[in-house]
Amino acid sequence: MQTMISFQHAVDLVIDAANRRERAVETVGLARASGRVLAQDIFSPLPLPPFRNSAVDGFAIRWDDLVDDMPTELHLAGEQFAGASGAFSAQPGTCVLVTTGAPIPEGFDTVVMREHTERDGAGIRFHRRPARVGEFVRSVGEDAAMGECLLSAGSTLNAARIGVAAACGLDRIAVITRPTVAVFTLGDELQQPGNPLCPGQIYDSNRPMLQALLAECGIESVSWPALPDDPNRLKAALMDAAEAFDLIITCGGVSAGDKDFLPTLLRDAGKPIFWKIRMKPGMPVLFGELGRSVYLGLPGNPVSVLATFRQLARPLLDAMQSRSDVALPMRAKLRAPVSRSAGRREYRRGTLEVGMDGQLWVTPDPADGSHRLVAATRNNALWVMDEQDAELSAGDVVDTEAFAHILRGTAAP
Ligand code: AMP
Ligand code: MG
Repeated sequence: MQTMISFQHAVDLVIDAANRRERAVETVGLARASGRVLAQDIFSPLPLPPFRNSAVDGFAIRWDDLVDDMPTELHLAGEQFAGASGAFSAQPGTCVLVTTGAPIPEGFDTVVMREHTERDGAGIRFHRRPARVGEFVRSVGEDAAMGECLLSAGSTLNAARIGVAAACGLDRIAVITRPTVAVFTLGDELQQPGNPLCPGQIYDSNRPMLQALLAECGIESVSWPALPDDPNRLKAALMDAAEAFDLIITCGGVSAGDKDFLPTLLRDAGKPIFWKIRMKPGMPVLFGELGRSVYLGLPGNPVSVLATFRQLARPLLDAMQSRSDVALPMRAKLRAPVSRSAGRREYRRGTLEVGMDGQLWVTPDPADGSHRLVAATRNNALWVMDEQDAELSAGDVVDTEAFAHILRGTAAP
C-alpha cells in the first residue's frame, strides 16, 4: 500500500483501478440516454439534411428568373409544404411556395423569404434578386455526409448528441453500464435526520449529501442508516456489499483515531492501494479493492466529503464508464492574497464571478474549516493551491472548478 502520495499519483491509481475492470454495455431508449457514455462510434446512415430543403417560409425560384435591383413577377406553380414529396419541375418564369423544411422542387435553386414578396392571385412579385444563388437552400449533407462519424465512443450524451442520434433514425443507443454504488456512513455519534438527537449525537448529513453528489453523476446509489464504530459490524456490512456492488464509498473512520477501523479492515479483508494523500481537505483518503468492488474511503468531515468526492470519486466514476470528455478546471484570478504552509495540494472554497470584461475572479472564503458545511453553501467553486504554493497574491491565477452557477461580478477587484 502506498502512503502520503501526491494528489496526481492518487488520481492515476484511481484511474488504473477503474481501467482494470470490465465494462458492460447496455442499450437504452433515447429518452433515458442523457448523461450516459456512448459505447460505440455512431456513423451517419444517411446524409444530413437527407434532402435539399428550404431554410425559410417563402418561394422557391430560379435565380436566373429575377433581375438585380428590379421587381419581377413570377407565376405561382404550386405549393410544397414540409412533409410533402410532391414533384414540381421548374418551368422558367414560375415559383413554388415552400415552408421551412419543405423539399425544394427539382430545378429551383434559390428561396426568397415570404416577407420580401407580394402576392397578387397567382402572381408573386419579388422586390429584387437575392445576392447569391442558393440563398436559403439547405443542401444535402451540409451538416454531415453519409458514413461520417457523428459521435465517438466515450463521449457523454447531451441534448444535441441525443438529437443527432434521433436524426439518424436511432431510437435506442448503446451506452456503458453505470457502476452500481453502495454508500456507507459510519460513526457512533450519527443519528438519522427525522429522529430526535441524544446528547453527543449529530445528524448524518453525509449520507444524503453523498447520494446527491452521486445523483449529479447520474448514479442512483444504495445506502443504509449509519453503521456504528464496531469493526465486526463494519466488516460484515462492507463484505456483503463487496459481493454486490461495483463501488463502495464510505465516509468517516479512515483517520488514525482509535475508532478508525477501515484502514485495518481493508488491509485484512481486501487489497489496499493507497492510504493518505498530500491534499487538503482529504488527507486520510483510503482506496483499494474489496471483494469484487472498488473501495473508496472518504474522510468524515462534510466539507472534505464535498471536495474529495469531486476530486477522486468523480474521476473514478468517469473512468469506470470510459468517459472521455471530462471538464477541465478554469483559470481565475484571486481577489485576495492567501498564505499558508506549503506541502499539500489544497482545495479551498470561494465565490467565482465573471466580470463584464469576461475575466473570472475567485474570492477565497475565509471560513475554511472542513466541518463548516453551512459556509460551503455560500460558495460556488473550489480553487486550488498547488503543493508548493505558500503565498498567493491578489491577481494571481489559480485553477478553479465551479460546482454551482458562476455569478456576474464587477470587472476589477
Ligand atoms: P471521522 O473521519 O470518522 O473521524 O469523522 C470526522 C468528523 O466528521 C467527525 O467530526 C465526525 O463526527 C464527522 N462525521 C463523520 N461522518 C459524518 C456524517 N455521516 N455526517 C456528518 N458528520 C460526520
Ligand atoms: Mg468517526
